[in-house]
Amino acid sequence: MADVTVHQCQCPSCQSGQDHPDRRWHDRINLVMSRLDEQQRRWLAALESQKAGYGGDSLLALVTGLHVDAIRRGREELDAGLHDRPTDRVRKPGAGRPPGKKKTQPSSTT
Ligand SMILES: [Zn+2]
Repeated sequence: MADVTVHQCQCPSCQSGQDHPDRRWHDRINLVMSRLDEQQRRWLAALESQKAGYGGDSLLALVTGLHVDAIRRGREELDAGLHDRPTDRVRKPGAGRPPGKKKTQPSSTT
């Protein structure tokens, strides 16, 4: 498998290059994010945003590179109990129905 690129946090504290208490947290978020699919990223960002409190959405947008709207949507989906979200993994594109043999019933007209 190819290298998974981990998003670099764009928050001012991390960008300044200094060590700060949240740096590890931001790194961890992006590390986990790199292994998630799109909807799971939204949910994680939404969760972390709530943890961050006021301004969480904009902070998490900087940290994760997701759009604030995506984070907001993730929170709405969580609030709704992930109701209309499928529990199974997102299907890989092209993993459709296997090319089956067409059943051709001999017409039994007598
Ligand atoms: Zn950061």
